[in-house]
Amino acid sequence: MSVTPSGSSPHTVTGRFFAPGLDGVGVPATGFWQHGRLKVQAADQAWEAAPDARVQSGGFNAAQLALVWAGTEGECRFYVDAGASRTAFAAGLPAHLAPQHHAAGKASAKVERRFRLWWGVLGVVALLPLLALVLLLTRVDDAVGWLVKQIPHEQEAKLGDLVLAQTRAQMRVIESGPAVDAVRQIGQRLTTGSSYTYRWLVVDNAELNAFAAPGGVVVVYSGLLQAAKTPEEAAGVIAHEVAHAELRHGLQGMVKALGVRAGAAVLLGDWSGAALGQAMTGLLEMKFSREAEEAADAEGLRRLIAARINPTGMADFMDTLAKQSPGAAVPELLSTHPASEGRAVRLREAAKAHAGPWAPLPLDWATVQGSLKGVRP
Ligand SMILES: [Zn+2]
Repeated sequence: MSVTPSGSSPHTVTGRFFAPGLDGVGVPATGFWQHGRLKVQAADQAWEAAPDARVQSGGFNAAQLALVWAGTEGECRFYVDAGASRTAFAAGLPAHLAPQHHAAGKASAKVERRFRLWWGVLGVVALLPLLALVLLLTRVDDAVGWLVKQIPHEQEAKLGDLVLAQTRAQMRVIESGPAVDAVRQIGQRLTTGSSYTYRWLVVDNAELNAFAAPGGVVVVYSGLLQAAKTPEEAAGVIAHEVAHAELRHGLQGMVKALGVRAGAAVLLGDWSGAALGQAMTGLLEMKFSREAEEAADAEGLRRLIAARINPTGMADFMDTLAKQSPGAAVPELLSTHPASEGRAVRLREAAKAHAGPWAPLPLDWATVQGSLKGVRP
């Protein structure tokens, strides 16, 4: 296994490459092993894996392997494509990485089994051709709404587990500390009596973003916590994300994407299961409809008021963002949650209809924000 292909006829490994300075969703890349190091070509640049690079499992379809190393500017990840590329990757792998490769293979097989089990138990796989047909004959949203109603919360929670495992594989999760405690404390107040068991995550990422995955997984980016001026501003965003989870918007989006892709797969005669993996991949970049966003605003507001948290936080946060970087790149949260003119005004008006007084959240926000400063090297 320690034999490396000669430089003149490298066995090409294709995949997707993540590195500082490149597009955040990764770029297509090719690589080959030379003297025990993976040479990578991506975005017209050449890269070389560090000598202490590690092999990990990852990818939403859970069948992917990644080579991960610390570059001079930050972490680099090469996700190896399935099939022949995976074979070429394994063939050139230096001997010392063989045990990691074996372990990663076992881990991804385990996740993949759980993944298949989830769809299998759900019966979605059997329902897909039917769903595809229904989608062709009726209104998409009606069909999706009907199917989502058939999915029990416990099954949705298992899907949340997969998203959680995925988030851990792809992002740097802050495991403990004041920021995690703050998000959990705010989140628990907003979800009293929920039928989901929530998982609260803070990831080390400078983007102003947060998202909710099916089954009660809420992920908040450290950049968002640092941009929020008060815990109430953060609570406004968390309430909105909780509302997406409670209203099952993520699940609806996935079923819709899955149905449409399954329809295409059936029409094209491709029934390899690739459609399932692709539907999962789209989750993180999912955009909700305007109706869904308005519903999440209203439900988020209702939850803030029920939790006795000052409900102007969301509107304040939008103002904070607008003031902070006029003309700069649109933060991720706003690109997936467009601040239609008057949204902040509407939120503030709706909040005004409810009398306080609101007790400030018992959080030392300076400590929370200070704890995040040292995280990023
Ligand atoms: Zn939203």
